[in-house]
Amino acid sequence: MKYDRPQKTAAKNTRRAFLLGTTLVLTNGVRGIACPDEHQTTTRFGMITDLHYADKSPSGSRHYRDTLAKLEKASDQIQKATPDFMVELGDLIDAADSVETELRYLKRINQEFSQLAKQRHYVLGNHCVDTLKKEEFLSEVQQKQSFYSFDSGNTHFIIIDSCFRSDGTPYSRKNFKWTDANVPSHELEWLRSDLANTTLPTIVLAHQRLDTKDNHGVRNAADVREVFENSGKVQAVFQGHSHKNDYKDLNGIHYCTMVAMVEGKGVKNNGFSLVQVKPDTSIVVEGFVKQNNYQWTGKAK
Ligand SMILES: [Zn+2]
Repeated sequence: MKYDRPQKTAAKNTRRAFLLGTTLVLTNGVRGIACPDEHQTTTRFGMITDLHYADKSPSGSRHYRDTLAKLEKASDQIQKATPDFMVELGDLIDAADSVETELRYLKRINQEFSQLAKQRHYVLGNHCVDTLKKEEFLSEVQQKQSFYSFDSGNTHFIIIDSCFRSDGTPYSRKNFKWTDANVPSHELEWLRSDLANTTLPTIVLAHQRLDTKDNHGVRNAADVREVFENSGKVQAVFQGHSHKNDYKDLNGIHYCTMVAMVEGKGVKNNGFSLVQVKPDTSIVVEGFVKQNNYQWTGKAK
């Protein structure tokens, strides 16, 4: 694994994007003027996780109220980069005492999050559905499904929902233990066919971890990884839940755990990232404040 300064690699890749753009026009010979615009061939998205927003006093290292100021700060940086879309990797809210209060917190934080990009994707975290039912959370953020896929540029993206008990029951208002996270068989089946139906290199977005066996791991993570590996298409998995920077390469797939925004007092303890997927499928993660940087070379086709 290499930790490069993103600024340096961005310059290198701009040159490569320019060359690719030119080659495309020359071989096609019909498209008129070359357009060496890196934005047309690079997918860019912003990512935040584990905001745990609530209007309440800190508990341990979790500063719930400070999330608003941190998100506002992140918004300045992210909006400048004009990402194609934003992702939040779960635990957007904490676990309020009543549905009414929780919906108020969710509205407030989502109002801020909505400023960052028109297209937004929400991964369900265990805290999102501790007080709310899945349908209550999803309807408030105007997202139809808890697991689905979409394409952006030349990349396929998959949103995973691991908020199911081991007996297959979906998490819903105080009916689960946070350590009992699972991807149920119907979702695994969907995942298999979704990956079979794409020709694009794929990035997976998840809340609970798919690279570990401890309490923060999905119980049947090995089954999920097997589906990823058999497809030969999954390049990277971004996940949250354990609140710290972590990275593992398991059988050629990058499993990257992102730092939680709720951890630590004030904006000096912020954490968020901008990700670029280059035309050659290399991935650059530009981390801000407490979030680590990564750069991974693309898979040769
Ligand atoms: Zn969390």
